[in-house]
Amino acid sequence: MSKELINKLSSPSETGRLVIVGGGPAGLAAAAKARAEGAKDIVIIERDVRLGGILNQCVHSGFGLHMFGQELTGPEYASRLEKEAAGITALTSVTVLNVTPSLEVECVSEEGIFTVRADAVILACGCRERPRGAIGIPGARCAGVYTAGTAQKLINISGIMPGRKFFILGSGDIGLIMARRAILQGGEVLGVAEIMPFSSGLKRNIAQCLDDYGVPLMLSHTVTDIREKGGRLCGVTVSRVDEKLSPVPGTERYFECDTLLLSVGLLPEVELLRAAGAEIDPVTGGAVVDERMMTTAEGIFCVGNMLHVHDLADYACKEAEECARFAVRYLEGNRGGGEGVKAECRGGVRYTVPQLLLRREEGALSLKLRVGRVAKNVYITASADGEEVYSVFRRVVAPGEMEYLTVPADKASKLRKAERVTVEMKEKK
Ligand SMILES: Cc1cc2nc3c(=O)[nH]c(=O)nc-3n(C[C@H](O)[C@H](O)[C@H](O)COP(=O)(O)OP(=O)(O)OC[C@H]3O[C@@H](n4cnc5c(N)ncnc54)[C@H](O)[C@@H]3O)c2cc1C
Repeated sequence: MSKELINKLSSPSETGRLVIVGGGPAGLAAAAKARAEGAKDIVIIERDVRLGGILNQCVHSGFGLHMFGQELTGPEYASRLEKEAAGITALTSVTVLNVTPSLEVECVSEEGIFTVRADAVILACGCRERPRGAIGIPGARCAGVYTAGTAQKLINISGIMPGRKFFILGSGDIGLIMARRAILQGGEVLGVAEIMPFSSGLKRNIAQCLDDYGVPLMLSHTVTDIREKGGRLCGVTVSRVDEKLSPVPGTERYFECDTLLLSVGLLPEVELLRAAGAEIDPVTGGAVVDERMMTTAEGIFCVGNMLHVHDLADYACKEAEECARFAVRYLEGNRGGGEGVKAECRGGVRYTVPQLLLRREEGALSLKLRVGRVAKNVYITASADGEEVYSVFRRVVAPGEMEYLTVPADKASKLRKAERVTVEMKEKK
């Protein structure tokens, strides 16, 4: 990166500068859309040596059906998004350390520490995996325990097979995908244990990655011991759990294996949000945002897996495109929106994104939400001051599948004007 470029970016922009932190699918989609919407000065900042984010390590197909109407692998999808964002200034191997309330984006690279002046910032930093320490599995602290994403990177990027005989804890999508990947790479997968009575992964991944390869999914089971020999894992004990998720004595089964993969949840990457003083949603683990996807820190927007963990990269991209339109409006001086009313979640709905509806916003309202349990024949309803204004019927809902509600403009307006908005799940009578 040249000194001239650093000097230019450290100075105010004549046209208003949009800085996008994170060059994964959400960041790239936001950049391309912002340009299409008229933004002239856009900078993507990516800490990795290349753009594309997690897609670079996802060599399987299944991406792109919603964005491009085609089934693509992760790297193919990343390169399509890169082409759409071609010509936009992209700084790679640059890590953002901090975003100040006055929108100074503090960066570090081989050139040293420098600051990029922004007029609006979109944070698209993705998420990270919950490690062993976050779930406290008893047993030996030995080699052979990996998060599923680490194993994915080792196999698909570095060409290293981390083990031969695998057991997987947690039925998140990355774990399911890695069960198939390990088998295709010559490994053996003995089973997947999930502590909950339902899987947190997509149904299609259970069918295509476990059922097709004869890998058993053990619901209401967890790993209760890890054994080692010579410093390497040599087996795991798996037990059934009761309704309180406590292991049931006498149900232990021992599986001889050399590797345990963990797929026990993803956490939005929120350090930059915290530093900027933005409010964090304790349920999503990501930012609290309004309908423009602006955080509670003025001028700082948040999208993709950094906002809340998405089922598909496509959905993260669609959300980023929507956010880019608002960010460009913001750059143009349209800072409206005004006061917000917080959507309260009840009756099995865990969260909504956005969390804040804006009094002065107009048009249809897109709400994304997740439920906390599997349920059949339910209505998801949105109420304004106790009066039901919008409702959709679902034959089945599950925590692993995000729900999308589009509330028509006239009904959305009632919600936006209310003192109290509630979103809940109701059984069909
Ligand atoms: C380990 C892992 C494996 C996954 N595997 C699959 C899979 O197999 N199939 C699937 O459908 N989905 C998978 N996903 C989900 C997938 O990540 C999302 O669908 C999609 O990539 C989300 O896009 P994103 O742009 O929000 O985040 P990401 O793709 O994670 O992109 C975020 C980008 O931000 C950059 N960044 C973060 N912090 C900074 C900073 N401070 N400064 C500069 N740059 C920064 C990161 O380097 C990264 O490039 C996986 C997720 C993880 C975490």
